Amino acid sequence: MKKNIAVIGAGTMGNGIAHVFASFGYQVVLIDVQKDILESALKKIEINLNRQLKKGVIRENQISETLDRIRISTEMQTAAQAGLVIEAVIENDNVKKDIFKTLDELCQPETILASNTSSISITELAAVTSRPDKVIGMHFMNPVPVMKLVEIIRGLSTSDETFNSVYETAKSLQKTPVEVNDYPGFISNRILMPMINEAVYCLMEGVADKEAIDTVMKLGMNHPMGPLTLADFIGLEVCLNILEVLYKGLGDPKYRPCPLLKKMVAAGHLGRKTKKGFYTYE
Ligand code: NAD
Repeated sequence: MKKNIAVIGAGTMGNGIAHVFASFGYQVVLIDVQKDILESALKKIEINLNRQLKKGVIRENQISETLDRIRISTEMQTAAQAGLVIEAVIENDNVKKDIFKTLDELCQPETILASNTSSISITELAAVTSRPDKVIGMHFMNPVPVMKLVEIIRGLSTSDETFNSVYETAKSLQKTPVEVNDYPGFISNRILMPMINEAVYCLMEGVADKEAIDTVMKLGMNHPMGPLTLADFIGLEVCLNILEVLYKGLGDPKYRPCPLLKKMVAAGHLGRKTKKGFYTYE
């Protein structure tokens, strides 16, 4: 794998992905639609690098070295020379498909195109390109600089060569890659989202109040946070969207989103980001 990569989308995940690759010596071009988004992404990376310095994870000189390896751009064309492109734009299949089509035209034939999608089919994204063997899922967890796991998702046509190259790349970032086949929700959300959904059903049916539900899962199952707190952290609309993908993709009623979750999203109570979800935040 050439040590130059492109990251498309400089939001929550994109800036974390750029941060981690640059920390491990990769030259990164970070691409988004607006300059101000890119500038705030760079600021966020600097803040997070300083946090790592305080924790003793990195040395002082690594801050400027890491930042020097990140270039920002609003031009998709700047991804053309990358050996690996990681798409981390909003979770919308049409937007992602357009980007994969463009990247397929722009990039060198050997370039690997990866998506950080949480729930969209890698096989479908691959199908809009002329290189489905070189399309793969690289699902980082939030916050990217902290979380060790990367799900590496094989689309139906992903080649062993592509898989091995991306698997080794994840290891070069000191992450723990896990091989997953392309089915709705992969492993992480296939298991996490039904648990969150069941917690919302428990709340809706009056099995217990929110604090009790979270306490049982925290103290009884040793989860670092309860499922309702976690749902607020992820964003309730994100949870609903992934449950709908599971429900539609697997066709099994056990994945039907809880009516209370739907109602909260309809009311705009999305969790931490709107200061109101299952809990309220000041
Ligand atoms: P976000 O909304 O924070 O960022 C998305 C970014 O994409 C925005 O900056 C937006 O301007 C940019 N964008 C939109 N259209 C674009 C285009 N055509 N070209 C370039 N940039 C464009 O979203 P996020 O939370 O970072 O999520 C990104 C992806 O990562 C999604 O697919 C999501 O499912 C996945 N993901 C998110 C999390 C999480 O916890 N947030 C965890 C794992 C995976």
